[in-house]
Amino acid sequence: MTDGPVWLEDGAPFVWRPYQAMLGGAPPLAVARTEGVRLVLDDGRALIDGIASWWTACHGYNHPHIVSAIQAQAARMPHVMFGGLAHEGAYRLAARLARMLPGELNHVFFADSGSVAVEIAMKMAVQYWLNRGVSGRSLFLSFRGGYHGDTLATMSVCDPDEGMHWLFRGVFPDQVLADLPLNDANEAMLDAILTDRGPRIAAILVEPLIQGAGGMIFHDAGVLKRLRRLADKHDVLLIFDEIFTGFGRTGTLFAMETAGIEPDIVTLSKALTGGTLPLSCAVANERVFSAFLSADPSKALMHGPTFMANPLACAAANASLDLFETGDWQGDVARIERGLRLGLEPCRTLSGVVDVRVRGATGVVAFETSVDVQGLTHQFAVRGCWIRPMRKVVYLTPPLVIVDEDLALLTGVLAQTLGQGR
Ligand SMILES: *Cc1c(COP(=O)(O)O)cnc(C)c1O
Repeated sequence: MTDGPVWLEDGAPFVWRPYQAMLGGAPPLAVARTEGVRLVLDDGRALIDGIASWWTACHGYNHPHIVSAIQAQAARMPHVMFGGLAHEGAYRLAARLARMLPGELNHVFFADSGSVAVEIAMKMAVQYWLNRGVSGRSLFLSFRGGYHGDTLATMSVCDPDEGMHWLFRGVFPDQVLADLPLNDANEAMLDAILTDRGPRIAAILVEPLIQGAGGMIFHDAGVLKRLRRLADKHDVLLIFDEIFTGFGRTGTLFAMETAGIEPDIVTLSKALTGGTLPLSCAVANERVFSAFLSADPSKALMHGPTFMANPLACAAANASLDLFETGDWQGDVARIERGLRLGLEPCRTLSGVVDVRVRGATGVVAFETSVDVQGLTHQFAVRGCWIRPMRKVVYLTPPLVIVDEDLALLTGVLAQTLGQGR
């Protein structure tokens, strides 16, 4: 690899990078621009993005429809505060999301990142009980393998061991952690936990169908049915965090549709703006919202981020929804699923591999122990692909528009590289 550009070296002492040791290790790759499904590096090489920039760039980069929507909005009104003011983009977007989401998920609260959307969902759940005059329900039941963000409250509901937040144990409240009810025995255990702790629990929180950042762990729709049943039985709310799964990734627009199950609150972000601008939301159903339908100011949801419902981000999200409404994303996801199955299958026999799994546009090669993330990322890049493993999994979550040849290149490079040892 060639030396990086001057700005990278000049700025490096001043930039604090995420989830990374500050000394040693390879410098980040300098990206000059993006094009379709490719990252064009400063040195001129183009890498196929196998993970869609942390699962956001579902339509590929620089999609002209989204770009022109952002440009038009920037010329008209880049931002206004949302307290006391309204703008068309946010109102149109909320109505569209409510219509796209199943059932009674109709009440959209905007924020600017996934973690904050989960925080808001948690706040909604706690205040739902308070507004109804029920006290003592402030805990959350979440699951091993789960990831819900890296702010303080959301860390408390991540998997404490597999996740990256074990350092901060004791700083945030101890929640109730359980195994997903994968079978009847697990359901009975969860039932017992809820019988015991239920009256203190505000909501159950789960990523439906795929637990993403916690290790790309899959479960089936039966799990979601069991969770809905238990939530109803013990009268606790159910929150689906669809920040990873939302917008087609698992084969349906939202993962909840596969199970025909509706949560009381759902969180969305990642692919919401087609990977262009930060935006997120927590969407509540009629039951939750009804507890806030009051003229009493103390019953208002006490939240309001500065850049809430940013007009540029809303314009991007509306343009992204246009593409979902007019494009054949379902065909694309089915096509990608086939390509991933075919292309990743050879990895099954590699040493150290414990599982190869594919669901929708997510393909995973799971290892018994942690992989060399930096070394592998470097080798993938040398071969023209941007693939960044997480702990024990090497995975692909490509843009939904990736063509078959590029997908075959990704899976080929992945299999070839892993085949040479890690
Ligand atoms: C990424 C992610 C989050 C956190 O979103 P940020 O925008 O990184 O704060 C929360 N939940 C899930 C399921 C995610 O994948």
